[in-house]
Amino acid sequence: MSDNVVWHSHAVDQDTRAEQKNQRPLVIWFTGLSASGKSTIAGALEQILTHQGYHTYLLDGDNVRHGLCGDLGFSDADRQENIRRVGEVAKLIADAGLIALAAFISPFCADRDLIREIMPDGQFIEVFVDASLDVCKERDPKGLYAKAVRGEIKQFTGIDSPYEPPKNAEVHLRAGEIPVAEAVNQLLAYLHEIGALRAGYQPVELKA
Ligand code: ADP
Repeated sequence: MSDNVVWHSHAVDQDTRAEQKNQRPLVIWFTGLSASGKSTIAGALEQILTHQGYHTYLLDGDNVRHGLCGDLGFSDADRQENIRRVGEVAKLIADAGLIALAAFISPFCADRDLIREIMPDGQFIEVFVDASLDVCKERDPKGLYAKAVRGEIKQFTGIDSPYEPPKNAEVHLRAGEIPVAEAVNQLLAYLHEIGALRAGYQPVELKA
């Protein structure tokens, strides 16, 4: 970045925007193996939050690779750049006063920690969507594991590319063992516990 680019503080800031929306801005970061359930659980949580009047935006790994990160592949360096970019975007979304839900494999601890570091204190929630490789291979909704095992996809996380599980995630979802509804309720309970939900919060019954 050029030394001549100076940060401009605008009169309308994150507090103003959050107050207007009557909510605490957050980045809720879902990490886990492909098919562990990140998109499914993030989408279900977003549905509930939206119905309860919260303002949200879901950033989905597969979707950003069509545009924002369409130039990146799956080498370690490209994965790092992918997560750096979407981390910055998630930060902007939270700066707009919204609750950003980000569903990315994001296999490296250091990359996830970088996002935690750039976020204001208390606004980054790491969610470990924990399903074993066996469960994910079994689900394989897009047939990607089958292809990776046959060697048709290279650098596939869990097959020939590593996944580093979080050590101190705020929320640990055993997504291989519990239904989606239970995972969502565990998240809602956590958000309630940290004071991120308004009074009147209730767990929700979802079809798994
Ligand atoms: P990811 O975003 O982690 O790649 P997806 O959410 O796209 O994973 O896919 C997970 C698949 O597993 C979906 O087809 C979903 O319906 C299925 N699934 C079955 N049980 C669960 C569960 N308990 N939690 C999350 N997903 C589940």
